[in-house]
Amino acid sequence: MPRFRFHAELNDLLPPALRGHTFEHACAERATAKHAIEALGVPHTEVGLILVDGQPAEPGQLLREADSLEVFPAAPPPLSAEAPLPRFLADAHLGGLARRLRLLGFDTELARDAPDRGLADLADGDGRIVLSRDRELLKHRRVARGRYVRALDTDGQLREVVAHFGLRERIHPFTRCLECNTSLRLANRAEVADRLPPRVAAEQTEFTACDGCGRVYWGGSHWRRLRSVVDAVAKLGGSRGQSIMTMPECWKS
Ligand SMILES: [Zn+2]
Repeated sequence: MPRFRFHAELNDLLPPALRGHTFEHACAERATAKHAIEALGVPHTEVGLILVDGQPAEPGQLLREADSLEVFPAAPPPLSAEAPLPRFLADAHLGGLARRLRLLGFDTELARDAPDRGLADLADGDGRIVLSRDRELLKHRRVARGRYVRALDTDGQLREVVAHFGLRERIHPFTRCLECNTSLRLANRAEVADRLPPRVAAEQTEFTACDGCGRVYWGGSHWRRLRSVVDAVAKLGGSRGQSIMTMPECWKS
């Protein structure tokens, strides 16, 4: 039987009895490395280097009875400021995470936004990183980049994604619509007055508007709670996110 050893965070995805040590596991006839690894519960999107008998191997390599595999996690994406910002596609069960990523300014589509297209089609055509807690989805061959989100609660999921993709220094909070993911623009009161409750129109002077769904945003008590989400992320690791200073004026009060 082939032998397997999974490294680092990939062990989270294995049955408990198989974590942290080398084990033997019977494979289907003519199984590839990808098939065997995924049959053990680890989607290909989580995997970086595969060694077979100490040599780098392709996921499509056929396994032999005597093979010994070592499987390492995918390397985190580059952290440099010049690297393009990652764009995400959250599956329909991660709506809370999608809204929080939008709150921080990251382009995040929610799968249910496009019900007529399969999620794999969206990810494949758009180059987005799929965020999901559905391992079968992440095993889909057309999902090239993805992350199995470990945390169960929304705040924990946000911390996990921010840490894994190195997003903390690149946040642009309150620049994207929470509902539809469109970039927001600054708007003056006269322009949006007909969409404001009277008290807001009287008290607030600066607004951001979404040209995608027509929503208008302004600073206020509801947004102080969201501001606390932003601040918690900016403080992860002990320093403030530099880009927090790019927040539109109307959110700073
Ligand atoms: Zn919108």
